[in-house]
Amino acid sequence: MLSPIQEYLEKLHARYAPVMDGQVADYIPELSKADPRWFGICIATRDGHVYEVGDTRQPFTIQSISKALAYGLALEDRGEEHVLSRIGVEPSGEAFNAISLKEGTGTPFNPMINAGAIATCGQVLEKEGRPRFERLLAYLSSFAGRDLDVDEVVYRSESETGHRNRAIGWLLRNFGIVDEDPHETLETYFQQCSIRVTCRDLALMGATLANQGVQPLTRKRAIASQYVDNVLAVMATCGMYDWSGEWIYRVGLPAKSGVGGGILAVLPGQLGIGVFSPPLDEQGNSLRGIKVCMDLSRELSLHMLNPTATPRTAIRLSYHSGEVTARRRLPASARETLKTHGARIQVLELQGGLIFTTFEPVLRHAIQLANAGCSHLIFDLRAVVTANTVSLRLMADLRRRLAGVGVQVVFCQPGGLTQRLQDSGIPPGFIFSTVDAALESCEDALLMTVTGATWRVTRALALQECPVFQTCTEGEIRVLERELPCRTFQPGETLIKAGESSDEMFVLLEGNVEVQILEEGALRRRVDVLTAGMTAGEMAFLDGSPRSADVVAMDKVQCVVVTRSWFAALSDALPHLKIKLLQALLREISARLRQANVEISALQRA
Ligand code: GLN
Repeated sequence: MLSPIQEYLEKLHARYAPVMDGQVADYIPELSKADPRWFGICIATRDGHVYEVGDTRQPFTIQSISKALAYGLALEDRGEEHVLSRIGVEPSGEAFNAISLKEGTGTPFNPMINAGAIATCGQVLEKEGRPRFERLLAYLSSFAGRDLDVDEVVYRSESETGHRNRAIGWLLRNFGIVDEDPHETLETYFQQCSIRVTCRDLALMGATLANQGVQPLTRKRAIASQYVDNVLAVMATCGMYDWSGEWIYRVGLPAKSGVGGGILAVLPGQLGIGVFSPPLDEQGNSLRGIKVCMDLSRELSLHMLNPTATPRTAIRLSYHSGEVTARRRLPASARETLKTHGARIQVLELQGGLIFTTFEPVLRHAIQLANAGCSHLIFDLRAVVTANTVSLRLMADLRRRLAGVGVQVVFCQPGGLTQRLQDSGIPPGFIFSTVDAALESCEDALLMTVTGATWRVTRALALQECPVFQTCTEGEIRVLERELPCRTFQPGETLIKAGESSDEMFVLLEGNVEVQILEEGALRRRVDVLTAGMTAGEMAFLDGSPRSADVVAMDKVQCVVVTRSWFAALSDALPHLKIKLLQALLREISARLRQANVEISALQRA
């Protein structure tokens, strides 16, 4: 199936393929051999999907596009301040090969014109016995995600005819911007410009910059994330030579062009674009390349200064413990308490990317909840995809500040964020692996505060204390005691097995059991916890279908067993007792259904 994006790119390609304007560069003699018909367009997404049309695998020399990436390596080698002291970041408004250096200091205006690029080349270090050029080649290769090589013929051609660049090199030496004999720096620069790439490589290099410096296919870091915005900034302001202002106005993407006919453009955080077409306009930018980028930007709404897709808030859902509780069955009195006071435990489910602007409304909402009397705030992070450092710091600050006014903030299901949450100052005790565990802990604390006692039953109950038998007379209790067998289970022992037939129902007198369903073959998921006084297995017992879940003893469990045959015989023997038991079971089941309805509507709230 052809993607609509592929179809769109093919139309775009067909629109400009017939345009034969512009001149293939010939000041480097070897470049004039390029076929003016070569034309490729590529888009690479941040996760490494590449859409391509035309001559996207045709190798050509990278030329000036290398300047942007070499600037990244110089920054990594020398640090921002050092590099800024040698090479400015002001657009020059002059041609790429202008012999223009700032008056007085001799610093090149920016690293995207030849003077600045040659100076940048001089900043790259020789490290661990690896010559500069070898490091540059490896660096550019890591952006492309494959081993690049040099077009030796183009390199020699430029080296033999690069008198103007040599003049620039000597001027830089004169001003002390280049420290050593500029000959070696210039040769490294010529080689760097002669690295062979394809249109597809350019798009992936762009995607790497869009992906905070990690190459999307190899998943290896190509550039330290702290320098990505520096590189994109000089591309945005100076990448298209003396057409940079017009470019950012019309296209609105950081980009870099080269006289080989390539253009690399980046939509920060989103995607990379590569276009290749050798004929150039007066400024030395690929003529078709510019037209393609203008159309792409307009037709796909890619102008970076007109971002439309930023979500307003990261809150996906918000509910409280009066609506949704932990997956466990509470005694009726505890259930009632939570229904009345549950709004004090609020759950905020967050989603997507957490950055200042998506997290700011979360802060506001959390503070509002705290002011309205909420005492526990649970952040469910399961649907969070990314979180920047600022959002994590704000999260930690919020926790600390709310703790100061007696509101406990906890976090759950952080996935890969656990370490970074801790690094930003959230103690491990406030991070839960599941929302259930977080809810349990907050519910227990709330129930304790409201009622002054634990809701947990720690002793063995008598039959008449169990809700299902509560309306029985003393005489009936004696019958039950006589006729219902007792059974004991050790911790870990199974009371009920999913899929089996259901001839028994259990009434727990002591201990706890866990109800588990099997997920995806082996993973067990806890769906409920029952405690003394409650019935287990009553659903399948009543409707006769096979068991739907496993029930396993969590500690030592004592229970009485109601068998199907005994229950059937009760119709004739003690019909009143049978009606009472059925009424009690119905009451219990309808209470649970009511609770489920409240939960479902809370969880479906938009
Ligand atoms: N190697 C070329 C030069 O220095 C690069 C120029 C360019 O691509 N604009 O002249």
